[in-house]
Amino acid sequence: MMDLKNKRALVVGLGKSGIAAARFLSAHGVRVTVSDAKADAGANDIPALLDLGIIVETGTHGERTFLDQDLIVVSPGVPLEMPQLALARKKGLPVLGELELAYRFLKGKIIAITGSNGKTTTTTLVGDIMKHADFHVLVGGNIGTPVIDLVSNSCADGWTVLEVSSFQLETIADFKPNIATILNITPDHLDRHGSMESYIAAKARIFENQKSGDSLVLNADDIQCRKLIEKQTREGGAIVIFSMQDQKRIGAYVSGDKIIWHDGKTTEIMRVDEIPLKGRHNVQNILAAVACTFRAGCPPQKIREAVMAFKAVDHRLQHIATINGVEYYNDSKATNVDAAIKALESFEGGIHLILGGKDKGSDYTILLPLLHERAKHVYTIGAAAEKIETHLGNALPITHAETLENAVKIAAKNAVAGDVVLLAPACASFDQFQSYEHRGKVFHELVKQLQPATKEAS
Ligand code: ADP
Repeated sequence: MMDLKNKRALVVGLGKSGIAAARFLSAHGVRVTVSDAKADAGANDIPALLDLGIIVETGTHGERTFLDQDLIVVSPGVPLEMPQLALARKKGLPVLGELELAYRFLKGKIIAITGSNGKTTTTTLVGDIMKHADFHVLVGGNIGTPVIDLVSNSCADGWTVLEVSSFQLETIADFKPNIATILNITPDHLDRHGSMESYIAAKARIFENQKSGDSLVLNADDIQCRKLIEKQTREGGAIVIFSMQDQKRIGAYVSGDKIIWHDGKTTEIMRVDEIPLKGRHNVQNILAAVACTFRAGCPPQKIREAVMAFKAVDHRLQHIATINGVEYYNDSKATNVDAAIKALESFEGGIHLILGGKDKGSDYTILLPLLHERAKHVYTIGAAAEKIETHLGNALPITHAETLENAVKIAAKNAVAGDVVLLAPACASFDQFQSYEHRGKVFHELVKQLQPATKEAS
């Protein structure tokens, strides 16, 4: 545990985790300053921070603000190469993320889950399984509750299940999960990380401090994870793998029509056709969750029951309604091309795909083979529409719908019974919406309005 008494700390970034870190530090007797370059940052939270005696700086990052400190805590969105931070580091000040700060106070064991896609689904499922198996478990991190807010409820014989992003991993120092998993590594956030190599390096930091007795769970079907498996010669910690094919090593696999756990002896968990989620990618998420929870000591029967009871997390390939025989699916969280591919792979054909939003420097031509095979029509929306249209050419009918509202209306007209209208936009949402959740909710509303007599999916 870190000694915070009579220390001065700066929290950079007034997002959810920054505010939580500021409150935590203040409650531990630290003289806290918060700084955000945006003039209107944290407007709703500033009065409460001031009431706690926290100093607030917005619209600028003063050099003195950064140097007159004992500790700096940076939020995940903050560029680490910022000159003020470079100066602080030169002065020898520790620069940590909120995850690292929380780690120094968290009690009990940790399961940390990262990957380009599937983090929230897998984290939620791991949490569900552990709760069902009567473990004392807290769930948070990049989803829901900031890690620092979990500290006060953590206990020595409990577990904390964390979703961690590559941004959070960039600012760790000692963070060491007992069980770490990398679900997959596909191009995402390259605008921030610069190159695929540095993105992979950030993800790989999840296990850099692991020691013997710890477990690293990796996806043997993912090219980048496979490279990490081959490279691991470490003594510290076991490597556990998961795969859609049966393998010899310790891990969770699909074997014939079953999900199994193999560790010298084979334990059957469930049949693949009993899985309540759509898509092959969700089978991979379940395999990862099985591997993590088996390593944590959950009984197979409890794992099976919790998986059977699991429902898609909102906005993740979530079934919204069936109208005139047409299925409507909300995968608003498909904010990159790989996630959209996984969504397309989940249906055999008849897909009306809504694509577009804020481009992240993506290559949409990768979608072409699957679109040829399974899609009937594409509807483009938002700022990325033209780029997508150029990349897709005239491979299939494309309607420049501009807005989600138009896209849903036109798709509903075009679709016939047996078809699927799928929002899997392969882009961020910020050009037309506040967030992917907002985009998903609007989609939900628009689908509901299509037919007054619509029977909603439960
Ligand atoms: P994350 O938290 O990593 O963004 P989510 O569980 O929220 O992951 O899912 C994000 C998107 O990725 C959704 O569109 C979902 O359908 C898709 N997805 C989920 N799991 C996987 C996976 N294992 N591989 C690829 N795509 C996935």
